[in-house]
Amino acid sequence: MIAPGQWLGVLGGGQLGRMFCMAAQTLGYRVCVLDPAPDSVAGAVAEKQILADYTDPAALAELAALCRAVTTEFENVPAQSLERLARDCAVSPHAFAVAVAQDRLREKGFAQQCGLAVAPHHGIAEVADLDRVDASVLPGVLKSARLGYDGKGQIRIERLGELAEAWEKLGRVHCVLEKWLPIAREVSVIVCRGRNGKVVTFPVAENQHRGGILAASIVPARIDATLAQRARASATAMAERLDYVGVLCVEFFVLQDGQLLVNEMAPRPHNSGHYTIDACITSQFDQQARILGELPLGTTRQLAPAVMLNLLGDLWFDDGNPRQPPFDAVAAVAGACLHVYGKTEARPGRKMGHVTVLGTSVQDALARAGEVSALLALEQAR
Ligand code: ADP
Ligand code: MG
Repeated sequence: MIAPGQWLGVLGGGQLGRMFCMAAQTLGYRVCVLDPAPDSVAGAVAEKQILADYTDPAALAELAALCRAVTTEFENVPAQSLERLARDCAVSPHAFAVAVAQDRLREKGFAQQCGLAVAPHHGIAEVADLDRVDASVLPGVLKSARLGYDGKGQIRIERLGELAEAWEKLGRVHCVLEKWLPIAREVSVIVCRGRNGKVVTFPVAENQHRGGILAASIVPARIDATLAQRARASATAMAERLDYVGVLCVEFFVLQDGQLLVNEMAPRPHNSGHYTIDACITSQFDQQARILGELPLGTTRQLAPAVMLNLLGDLWFDDGNPRQPPFDAVAAVAGACLHVYGKTEARPGRKMGHVTVLGTSVQDALARAGEVSALLALEQAR
């Protein structure tokens, strides 16, 4: 193992990096963040921040020399940076896994190689591909294959005639056209795999999005035990086939007929796994730190049903005027665990914090989360 007191590194200074730093520090590690922003929220808690771009050779050399092991908190980290770091220190996840997760088409192909189902789709890389699309994938959604998140870079397509213009609008980049599916629920699984191949999963989260952004996670998901087990086994199969080291999130669609489809994966801790901080014996960030430090994985058992609500920057405005959200009232709700990330500027849609509400049952947690939502004027999780 890497002994406490040694340095661990993280590429990226956002809230995921911040929560990783806090977990690693709890285990006694010192942490270094590489991020170009001087006010990064992970840099604010880390022992050290290297202020530089993710591809800066001198910065990567400095990080690799200081740290025994390095991870990342976002998927669009350049593969070459991971490869450079790997020359001098342990890097997880490895560049190949990150490259697969960066591309929706590769991701779908990979899930299929694992024997898992995905939405019917077509890859679109050049004009000629537009003519090869058959109408059976319509109505559908055209997504840029790379760099999309929170529903950005996606256009609904009702008829074949709309396709060329939509592709034009997305900048003629590599895209995937996916059939629009009758989704009953969206669920996700956080899977953690150590360097020694040991693997654990967390309970399945049920996710509700608003405006393409995660709004609430309800855990355990309200699906039957067999389906939950299949989702956890599917995520494990993907992590194993990738020879993944680290924390990986796999998002699924559950269709109205009960089919389970892989939607996408993120090679890092995930917003839908924030509930693990307050509701599980070990959190997803604890696991990330344990994996980096080559400690055994922790128990993933959930201690209480939970509802996680995201706090977006919109809450800091009332009719366009800045305001302080009533966190005193939120903190007074029994079972509410408030997390604020310390970002200096609130912007609509920006992830500023979250609240995990614990209850004696999912229904109880939902009722308490309802109190929090009412205080913040958030749409209720259902
Ligand atoms: P992002 O990377 O932005 O999270 P997703 O592919 O997960 O992109 O899409 C965002 C959301 O849009 C999904 O969580 C789901 O609610 C909806 N969505 C995406 N693809 C489909 C689809 N093929 N059918 C129905 N809904 C979809
Ligand atoms: Mg998604």
